[in-house]
Amino acid sequence: MTYQETVWDDSHSPSLKSYTLSNFRSLPQLQNLPEQMLEEMEVVGNVLPFKANNYVVEQLIDWTNIPDDPMFVLTFPQRGMLKPEHYTQMEETLQSGADKKRVAEVANEIRLQLNPHPAGQMELNVPALRDGTKLYGMQHKYKETCLFFPSQSQTCHAYCSFCFRWPQFVGMDEMKFAMKEGEQLVQYVSEHPEITDVLFTGGDPMIMKARIFAKYADALIESKLPHLKTIRIGTKALAYWPYKFLTDKDSEEMLDVFRRITDSGLHLAIMSHFNHINELSTDAVRLATSRLRETGAQIRTQSPLLAHINDDAQMWANMWTKQVKMGCIPYYMFVVRDTGAQHYFGVPLVRAYEIFSRAYSAVSGLARTVRGPSMSATPGKVQVSGVVTLGGKRMLVMRFLQGRNPDWAHTPFLAQYDENAIWLDDLKPVEGDKFFFEDELERIKTEKMVR
Ligand SMILES: *Cc1c(COP(=O)(O)O)cnc(C)c1O
Ligand code: SF4
Repeated sequence: MTYQETVWDDSHSPSLKSYTLSNFRSLPQLQNLPEQMLEEMEVVGNVLPFKANNYVVEQLIDWTNIPDDPMFVLTFPQRGMLKPEHYTQMEETLQSGADKKRVAEVANEIRLQLNPHPAGQMELNVPALRDGTKLYGMQHKYKETCLFFPSQSQTCHAYCSFCFRWPQFVGMDEMKFAMKEGEQLVQYVSEHPEITDVLFTGGDPMIMKARIFAKYADALIESKLPHLKTIRIGTKALAYWPYKFLTDKDSEEMLDVFRRITDSGLHLAIMSHFNHINELSTDAVRLATSRLRETGAQIRTQSPLLAHINDDAQMWANMWTKQVKMGCIPYYMFVVRDTGAQHYFGVPLVRAYEIFSRAYSAVSGLARTVRGPSMSATPGKVQVSGVVTLGGKRMLVMRFLQGRNPDWAHTPFLAQYDENAIWLDDLKPVEGDKFFFEDELERIKTEKMVR
């Protein structure tokens, strides 16, 4: 069935309504929840910003399954997301009747301790033009792909409660990445013939109006840079607001931009973020997916593995299978990075590996395009690719999927088996006191910091 043949009356073309800290209590769906729970949401919501919308509330959350429903946990704050001491600090501040300014101060104090940008991470990845202009709206970590953060894409249709990008949502200005001009983007890519892919990211670039996105996309198309092969868009719009590609005022215009990209001979890759199979369950997402594919875009899917939301091998197997059926290509399972509510969402590496391999073994080869579990760590994207026993000793087989030095890609290395390790930093080499990449990584870091 094509989109046009589907009955699609006005009741199916809603306008976006957002629910945040200031108005969530007005939701009819929340009226039956205990007051205690709403208060907890308020305490946590003052530190970790949250935003749900009418599509998420009406079509994705199963309100008969509170508090465990994965889509509820994904979009509404839960008490456990703050460490007890932070929770108490904010609870006491609110109870003391502190004014808005004071509440914001305490919130920022706590947020800084949550350290959303591990030391040096930002400065390390900031590229510059030949004339020395620093491009704070870009990151260029892996040779062939540069990331572009348009200043208009610093928000999303709804927020994921695990997401580390909240500094840009709550106006902690010094942490913003954004950049204004597509011109600088084209200039940078033209100065770097090794770049084949430009990846639009944010927030969510699909929050942009088609007219704004078109400016950037057309600048890239018109530049006709021979080394540029692919435009990628990292987005959660299919999961959180599929109407972006169906019934919003600029839907047709956005799909036209996509067609211009593919008509120009560039590959258009939609890196679509789906955390749970429930996000694939509605008519809207099914239709939006097929309309996107009709533009010639290829949809690849990715998600972190998250406790309380998707730490379930069978769910992943079902989700990948359904994605393949919808014409999407499963791409990455990530290990959730060290950030705000890591203690709540984190899954240890060994367990992540078990979930991944169980899910991977349960699907057709067509879904085994997926790679993971993968950590986006300072030296690169590192996969836990196996557990082996050598000479009676268990160890983890690790592998680079991407390296800060491109030669590291695909290189395996061994680490001591450790059930409690949650990140690369927690792992120890099997022999010697350093992994093979550590000395060189230090050199790369020093070079970049000095410049
Ligand atoms: C993941 C990532 C990319 C893209 O990597 P692919 O493996 O090509 O998808 C690019 N830049 C950064 C910083 C990344 O984390
Ligand atoms: S949609 Fe992406 S950027 Fe936005 S809150 Fe979710 S994970 Fe973060």
